[in-house]
This record gives sequence, C-alpha cells and structure tokens, in this order.
Amino acid sequence: MKKITHVLFLLLLTTACQQTADRHAQRIVVTGIDSSKKPGDDFFTYVNGIWYDSAQIPASQAGVGSYSFLNFPQRIRLRRILDSVSGSNNPVGSIEQKVGDFYASGMDTVAINKRGYEPIKPILASIDAITNVPALLQVVAEEQKTGDASIIGFYVGPDDKKSTVNIVQFFQTGIGLPEREYYFKTDSSTLGIQKAYKKYLSTLFELTGSNADAAKKNAAITYDIEKQLATAHRTNIELRDVKANYNKRTVADLSKKHPALAWNTLLSNLGIKTDSVNVGQPAYYDQLNVMLKSISINDWKTYLKANALTNYANFLSQPFADASFAYTKILTGQAVKKPRTEEMTQVVDRSLGQALAQLYVKKYFPQEAKKRMEGLVDNLQKAFEERINKLDWMSQATKDKAKEKLHAFSRKIGYPDKWRDYSTVEVKRDTYFENRLSANKNDYRYSLAKIDQPVDRTEWLTTPPTVTAYNNPPMNEIVFPAGILQTPYFDLYADDALNYGGIGMVIGHEITHSFDDQGAQYDKDGNVKNWWTKEDYEKFKTRTQQVIDQYNVFTVLDSLHIKGALTVGENTADIAGVAIAYDAFKLTEQGKDTTKIDGFTPDQRFFISIARIWRVKTREEYMRMYVNTNPHSPAKWRVNGPLMNFTPFYKAFNVQPEERMYKPENERIVVW
Ligand SMILES: [Zn+2]
Repeated sequence: MKKITHVLFLLLLTTACQQTADRHAQRIVVTGIDSSKKPGDDFFTYVNGIWYDSAQIPASQAGVGSYSFLNFPQRIRLRRILDSVSGSNNPVGSIEQKVGDFYASGMDTVAINKRGYEPIKPILASIDAITNVPALLQVVAEEQKTGDASIIGFYVGPDDKKSTVNIVQFFQTGIGLPEREYYFKTDSSTLGIQKAYKKYLSTLFELTGSNADAAKKNAAITYDIEKQLATAHRTNIELRDVKANYNKRTVADLSKKHPALAWNTLLSNLGIKTDSVNVGQPAYYDQLNVMLKSISINDWKTYLKANALTNYANFLSQPFADASFAYTKILTGQAVKKPRTEEMTQVVDRSLGQALAQLYVKKYFPQEAKKRMEGLVDNLQKAFEERINKLDWMSQATKDKAKEKLHAFSRKIGYPDKWRDYSTVEVKRDTYFENRLSANKNDYRYSLAKIDQPVDRTEWLTTPPTVTAYNNPPMNEIVFPAGILQTPYFDLYADDALNYGGIGMVIGHEITHSFDDQGAQYDKDGNVKNWWTKEDYEKFKTRTQQVIDQYNVFTVLDSLHIKGALTVGENTADIAGVAIAYDAFKLTEQGKDTTKIDGFTPDQRFFISIARIWRVKTREEYMRMYVNTNPHSPAKWRVNGPLMNFTPFYKAFNVQPEERMYKPENERIVVW
C-alpha cells in the first residue's frame, strides 16, 4: 500500500464517452440534456439521465462512465502502444523491449497455463520448512521483498513532523477482505461475500494438492486468523485521524514492547537500517505480537500459504485466476473476466508504469496542454485567495496563515521531469511470473533507498497515463497527470465554461484537500503543526460537522447511506472545489459574458460540465463496496451535494423552493 493521499477517484471502470473527432474551438457540443426534468430536482439526472438510462455496463466491468483509473479511450491508447512495442524487435534492455516483452509474456496464456502453479512452489516450500516464530518472520520478510506482503506492511514516506525526510511507516494489514467491518457485519450481502471469500481460499488449497476436507479446514484457519487481526484494525473512519496515525518509536523500544516480533531482527531481515520508525496503527502490531505466540506455527503456515496464493493467483494458470474471479464477481457484480489485453495493460502500468508512461506522453500528450493548465491553476489559486479574504467566520491571523500555505503550493502537470530507472528489471517474453517479481523487487529497492533520506520533491505517486489527480499534504503539492488532461475534464479547444467546470473543478477540489479535515492539520511546509487560532479551528470543525450531517442522510441503495464521516474530506473538497472553480471562471472573458452556446448560458455550461465529469453508472454490488470503503461519495452526490450548497447554481437554473435540491440559504454550507 502506497500512501497516496486524496486521490480524486479509485475506480476501475470503462467509459462509453466518445472521443470527438471535431477539434475546433467551441465545437464541444453539449447533448443529452433531459429537458423534461427540472434541473433543481436532481441535476445529475437532468444532465446525465438520458445517458444513464441507456448505458449498458459491459459484462466484464463493474461500471461504466467518464472517469476511471484507465478509462475506455485511455485503455485503447495504451493498448495500441503495447501492441506495437510487443510486436517489434527492440534492443535488449530498452524501455520498449521491457514494456513490450512484459506485455507479451502476460498475453502468452499457453505458456502460463502450462506452468500451472510451478512458479510459486519454491515459496510454498519455504513456508513448509518453517519450524518456529523467528523462521516464520524471516520468510515473511523475504516474501515482502518480492511484493508478497502478508502480516507486515510498510511504505517509505515523509515524516509527518519533519516533512523533508522520509521515514519507514508501518501500517495495519494482514486481512484479505476489503476492510475490517467485512469480518463482523452480518447482513446478507456481507455474509455472501464472506462465504465467497472462504470458498476462494479453499479452492486455492485444493488446486495446490489438498483434498476437499483439508482445503475447507485450511480456509477456515486462515479466515479465523484474519478475523483476529481485523479486531485490532482501526475503522476507515478512525484512519482519518492524522495525529492518531503518527506514533514514531525507536526500534529499541519496539523490540522491548514486542518480543515475539523481534523488531531488530525483523528490520534487519527486511533490509531496513534505521533507529526509528512510525507505527501508524500500534494496536495492530500489539495484537500481532500476541498472536505470534497464541496461534500455532502450523496455522500460521496455512495462513501464509493462503496469502501467497491469493497474492499470486492472477499470475498463475487459469484455474487460479478463475478462482480469484469467482470471488471478485460476488464482491463487485462484474459478470465476466476482463479481456486479457485489459488486464495486462493494467499489470504493465503497475509494474513498469513510468516506462509505459514515457511511450504514452511522447505519443499522446500535447505540450500546449501543460501551458493551458498553468493558466487554469493560476486562476484557481487567485480565486481561492479571494475566497479566503472574504470568509466571514475566520480571523485575520488564520487567514494570513492559510494564504501563506496557498502560496507555498507546488504543482505537477502531465508527467515527471525525471523518470524512474528500470535498468535492474529483467524482462523476458516467456517468464511472466518472474517478470512481475523482478519489477516488484525493483520497487522494493527503490523504497528502501529512500529511508531516512531527504524527500525527493520531484517524485510522482501515480503513473502519468492514469485518469486521476491527487493532493499530497506532506509535500503541499497538487498533481495532475497527463491522463486527466483530456475530455470530458479538459479540452484545448473547449470554451472556458466547460474547462473550468471540468478540470477547474478538479483543481479546486485538489487545492481544497490542503484545507479539509485532514489537510488543514498540515502547515505550509507539509508538517503536522497547528497554524489555526483555537477559535477558528473550532468554527472550522463546526462546518465540517455540517458536511458530515448533511451527507449522512443521502440514501444510495435501500438502507445504504453515504458515510458522512468517511467522506467528509472529499465532500468538503467537492463543495469548495465548485465554488473556487466558479470564481476562477468569473475571471475569464466568457465568465463575464452571457452569450449562449448550444442554448445554454456560460454559467449553465459551467454547471453542466461538472455533472458531465461525474457521469458514471455502476453495478449494485460494486456500489455497496464503494460506499463501505471509498472516501468519495458516489457520482450522483458529487454533483448534487456541492450544487445544493452553491447559490450561483440556484440562480443559473432558477431553482425554486419546491424543487428537491433546494435548501434555504442558511442551510447552504460554505466551508471555504
Ligand atoms: Zn479528493
């Protein structure tokens, strides 16, 4: 788990959105508006309803829509690159050779199926050879180096109290279900998922030689260990507490506290040389220390085998991948497996992301986009500063600090100035499994080299073709990869209304993350340090509580409500993001004008653009998981939520008190 804070969205969806071939100024046509509906009743449906009712979710997907990690047009572009480089003879060791051969090795299902589970036999044998806790922890450490993390989880990132230096950061881990509540909830949907998960584990044991009874027993042992680990997990709402996640300890203290974990030896086995580390969620490691003694070595071995099997299932022969998919199906509702090409595109992106990205930006990223974005970000920053000046609830002292932080922002647009080095990754066309391991080992070495070193401010936490954006509070930075600088977010040839309602809203959203419930606790240098007066911070908390209360009552499916406390940061960023983007739009010529395009005023086009970027439809199963685990509100509420709080929206569409989105002025929330 990399710590990527405040990512705009984490979804694996396709999009039916058509790339327009017409590239002339102001020729982006706004279509599909359902004029039989009142915009003030449900703006999401007013803009997206016609599309929503006719959109078919492909059997191989959990949803369909305009935003995603690798959206449909984006996947086609990446696949074109991969088809091209995998089909040609490239110099050994070149980026093209590594990317192309990695993809080819993953597409060669004949070779993969022939090997069965032979690639992981050495791993299973090393687990079999374990005789005591120290040997167990040694295997755990060795496996970690190749990407098979089990009961230990860490990343290397900025120290929250000294953001110029990277430290080792341990976090709670060890469970297979999406998060702790899945082990304890007893509703029928969760029970179905628990059952499917146990069946998945048991199938993996059968596929590696256990008889049906033994396999079932092994699955139960594994599940029971995970459930015990889960009892010590913080909930995803508790994990939002920035200060509670900071517990820097000396290795000497930890060694004393957790004799079974033997931190000194553990760190040395992991290849980590340091005096102190952060333990994000100490209760987990307290529990692990107890369980290492209370659970038999044999049961731990069973658990580790299950962990290795689930970790690698999709890199082994078809029966393993099928077992993995049978579980995914219950979890997300996706009916059939993704096409192999799509899966491999994602694996290459994850394994050699910055190599693939180099080929991508060369072919698909126009340099003019970067320039246009600079102008947009400048205007958004200006607009935010003005909003801070005008806040009626904040004192001048806090305002000055907030503006200082705003001016200290750094921004990254498109792709990194320097690329990651993949020279030690070995890639061959017939060794898919080993290719993946080699990439994982390279990632591990890359992480280790950062320990206790100065933070590299040029580093990127996501790959450039990814359709996303993020804010990283310890670096006080906002990042917009090349992937998001495309329609419907951004178009070099679109009018400002569409771009400010699209990428402008995204920029406003990302800036606000530095001032949401979590970001507000970081100062301009990226340290967790209070810069608020006591009174102002109390007022701020009252406002974020209003956001929590308002979103808590939004109903998604039957009795399923948005979790206000889980999504408060994202909702705050959406509410302020719209306002900042709107103010920035008002700084442009079109923003001051009233000339209609396609029958809509500039303001109306701005709001329509906001609804268009969240055009998404997902399966019910996927939606349940999303609401339970994702800090973002579902798409409909990312549109209607902020707009019902924003007075200019009421004016643009003449929203009346009897309409469903209407809120009296004193109930419209303004945080920033
Ligand atoms: Zn966000």
